[in-house]
Amino acid sequence: MLKIYNTFTRTKEEFNTIDGSGIVRMYSCGPTVYHAAHIGNLRAYINVDILKKNLRANGYGILDVMNITDVGHLVSDGDDGEDKVESAAKREGLSPEEISIKYTSLFMKDMERLHITPTRIVVPATLRIKEMISLVEQLEKKGFTYKTKDGIYYDSSKFPSYFELSKRELKDNEGGKRVNIGEKKNANDFALWKFVKPETIQKWESPWGIGCPGWHIECSAIAEKYLGTPFDIHTGGVDHIPIHHTNEIAQTESATGRKMCNIWFHNEFIKVNNDKMSKSKGNIWTLQDLIDKGYKPEHFRYLVMQTSYRTILNFSFESLDGARNTYNNIIDKLAKHKASKVKTDKAVINGLRKEFFDGLNDDLNTPKALAALQKALKEKPSEDIYKLVVDEFDRVLSLFS
Ligand code: AMP
Ligand code: ZN
Repeated sequence: MLKIYNTFTRTKEEFNTIDGSGIVRMYSCGPTVYHAAHIGNLRAYINVDILKKNLRANGYGILDVMNITDVGHLVSDGDDGEDKVESAAKREGLSPEEISIKYTSLFMKDMERLHITPTRIVVPATLRIKEMISLVEQLEKKGFTYKTKDGIYYDSSKFPSYFELSKRELKDNEGGKRVNIGEKKNANDFALWKFVKPETIQKWESPWGIGCPGWHIECSAIAEKYLGTPFDIHTGGVDHIPIHHTNEIAQTESATGRKMCNIWFHNEFIKVNNDKMSKSKGNIWTLQDLIDKGYKPEHFRYLVMQTSYRTILNFSFESLDGARNTYNNIIDKLAKHKASKVKTDKAVINGLRKEFFDGLNDDLNTPKALAALQKALKEKPSEDIYKLVVDEFDRVLSLFS
């Protein structure tokens, strides 16, 4: 039995597809392509890869969709400031399109180096503007929107279950401290369509005038187009719970009248030496940085798997050294099993297999699964152990082939 923790219900739930079919319909919030992905972003996609591979090990097929945010995500993460892609374009003297192509390619290269299976449908937001406009029109028709001088906004007070995913309360946001909400009616209202300055490069015609989409609308529009609602699993980092995913739910459910998704899967953050990663602290690492320091992508993948996806992972080069040593040790032991012609008792193999997959099926408990791997490697060198590890365990781990 496969159990997955659902942020929406705050419980581990037995997994079944909504339509009872063998196909899991799954959406992942993709990268904002204005810089090389850092190790925190990469953790998110390694965890999702393990989730998908374990679903496959349980016999499911997967229809997976991911957006590429190449417009609308503002520097502030809110509704003010410059567009992240547009500001990177200025910084690097490239066009916004060149920036998003450059960093999408880098992202894809990192995915490959980390043995992450490609997502079936990958959609840049700028190629689905029509669908976003149509979703905003539906919201407008149903009375969920209002206009300010800088755009079309979603009125969160019209959606009573706005705080259901985050379990926050209205007073957490609006009581106590006074926030400057400008022309917005409520602090949690957010832009669906933004009017832009004349010099803005990424802009489109719309029923409300020339502008660009707000950040959240792309995921609602893309998920609706390629998966339909409700779908089975939606993934992202924990930072998305209170705003981005909350707003996705509000948009989709207000427009369609249907639930958006069944299971909300969120990975915890990577911190560096117990600190938040930030430019000013100079502690943001990319996969290329690690490779330049002599580590292999597999060492980082192993490090990520040593911690459950729901626990904060504190990155340090000491911990990466530890993961490298353990990984190299596994490779040595594996070579001995490979060279052996000895057989291992079937009951022992079955027991190890059960331990490994019971760990993964318990909400992707990768530390438990890695403990089962280590236990298997401690057996006398045997070709059966080699096959168990490489043909079965590694379908999910993706470390050894
Ligand atoms: P972004 O490129 O900022 O849109 O983020 C891509 C993914 O990485 C999202 O799912 C984020 O929630 C996730 N993420 C961002 N920072 C971190 C971090 N430090 N640790 C783990 N995941 C992160
Ligand atoms: Zn999203």
